[in-house]
Amino acid sequence: MKTGFHILVIGGGMVGACVAALAASNRHFADLRIAVLEAQPPTFPPPDATDDIDLRVSAISRASERVLSEVGAWQLLPRQHVSAYDEMIVWDAAGKARGAASIHFSAGESGEPNLGYIVENRRVLWSIYDSPAFRQRVTLLRGELTGLEFEDDRAVAVLSDGRRIEAALIVGSDGAGSLSRKLAGIQTKGWDYNQRAFVTHVGTEHPHQRTAWQRFLPDGPIAFLPLADGRSSIVWTTTPEHAERLVADAPEQVAKELALALDGTLGAVELAGPRGEFPLRLTHANEYCRERFVLVGDAAHAIHPLAGQGVNLGFLDAAALIEVLAEELDSGLSPTSLGERRVLRRYERWRKSENAVALGLVDGLNKLFGSRADTLGWARRAGLSVLDGSMLAKRFLMGRALGIRGAAPALVRTHR
Ligand SMILES: Cc1cc2nc3c(=O)[nH]c(=O)nc-3n(C[C@H](O)[C@H](O)[C@H](O)COP(=O)(O)OP(=O)(O)OC[C@H]3O[C@@H](n4cnc5c(N)ncnc54)[C@H](O)[C@@H]3O)c2cc1C
Repeated sequence: MKTGFHILVIGGGMVGACVAALAASNRHFADLRIAVLEAQPPTFPPPDATDDIDLRVSAISRASERVLSEVGAWQLLPRQHVSAYDEMIVWDAAGKARGAASIHFSAGESGEPNLGYIVENRRVLWSIYDSPAFRQRVTLLRGELTGLEFEDDRAVAVLSDGRRIEAALIVGSDGAGSLSRKLAGIQTKGWDYNQRAFVTHVGTEHPHQRTAWQRFLPDGPIAFLPLADGRSSIVWTTTPEHAERLVADAPEQVAKELALALDGTLGAVELAGPRGEFPLRLTHANEYCRERFVLVGDAAHAIHPLAGQGVNLGFLDAAALIEVLAEELDSGLSPTSLGERRVLRRYERWRKSENAVALGLVDGLNKLFGSRADTLGWARRAGLSVLDGSMLAKRFLMGRALGIRGAAPALVRTHR
C-alpha cells in the first residue's frame, strides 16, 4: 500500500467526484490517500465561451444540496445558474393541469423554502472538482480503466496505457455501462424502456411561475422544468422514432408539438437551445460490493428520468458509503482494511433496498401512466385526485423526492 491509494474512485462523473470530495473533507480520512481515475476529466477553467445554460440539466433535491454543501461545492455554483422551483404540477393526458386528475405539490405546504433546483450537470461537476477538499486532497488521474485484479490485501486497476494502480478499496462509479462492475463479475437486472428522452430548452408565451410542469402522455411524460432566466428545460420521454424526429424536424414544427404536448398550459413555445436524445434503461446491480470493490451511482442503478432521481440517488450512495467507512475508521478499522466485504456489506444493505424502492416506484409510475387500458386510466385519474386531497400523502411523497425522508445519511438528516 505504500505506493498506492486507500481509495481509488473509477469514474469522476458527478457521483464519483462527490465520493472523493466527501472522503477528502471528512476528518476520519485525514491521512488517507484518495484518487479519482477519469477518462475525460472536465477542463478548467470552465470553457465558458458563452454563459448559456447547457443542454444537460438535473433536478437537484434538498438532500443533494446538503451533500454538495458539505464539501463546499454548492457554495461555488453561480446563483444565476441555480434555478429554484417552488411548485410542481403533474397531470394525466386526459385531464387538465389544475383539474381533477392532477396533483399539485408546493414548497409552502411542505414547509420547505423550495422543492429543489434545476442545475446544469457540468456546473455541478465543476463545483465538486473546484471544492477545497477535492483540490487539496484528491489525486486526479487521467486514464481509462481496462482491467481489475484482486489480491488478498489490495485491488489493482489496470489502465489502457499499461499503468497499474493499487488501492485498498476501489469504488466503481463509471456510469450505467460500468466496465468496473463487469470486471468485478457483478451481474445486473433490468430492461430497455424502448423509450428515449428528448431534451432541449424553450421560451414560453406565459411565465413558468417557478413551477415544474409534467403531463403524462401515453408514450411517456413531458416535463417543462423552470430555468432562472425564464426559459424552461424540456425532458420528453417518448418512442425512439418520435425522439429522433424531434431532434431532426424543423424548429417551428417541434415548438408546436411541444406546446400541444403540454396542452397549451404555458401558451406558445419557441425552441431556445440545442436538441438531444438519450436511450433509457432500467439497470440494478445484483450486488453492490465484492471484497475490495463497491459500486455507487449509475454504475449501481440506472433509473427512468421521469422523477428526476438518478444523480440524487447517487449522491445519497456517496454520503452513505462515506458515513459507513468513517464509522468503521472511528471504531479502529485499519485504513488498509477499508475494502473488507464485511464493511462494504453495511453500505450495500442500506442503499440497495432504498434504491430498489425508488426504481420500483418510478418504473411503476411509467407503466401506470403509459397504459392505454381504460380501467387503468380511470384508476390513475381517481388516484391523482385522492392523492391531491391528502396532505399527509403529499408530504410523504415530497419528503421522498427531496431525499430527506427514509433512511437518509446523517449529514442529510442533521444538516443545519
Ligand atoms: C434525459 C435525462 C435526464 C435526467 N434528469 C435527471 C434529473 O433531473 N435528476 C437526477 O437526479 N438525475 C437525472 N438524470 C440521471 C443523471 O444524469 C445520472 O444519474 C447521473 O449523470 C449519473 O452520474 P454518475 O456519476 O453515476 O455517472 P456518469 O455521469 O455516467 O459518470 C461516469 C464517469 O465515468 C467515466 N468513465 C466511464 N468508463 C470509464 C473507464 N473505463 N475509465 C475511466 N473513466 C471512465 C466517464 O467518463 C464519466 O465521467 C437524467 C438522465 C437523463 C438521461
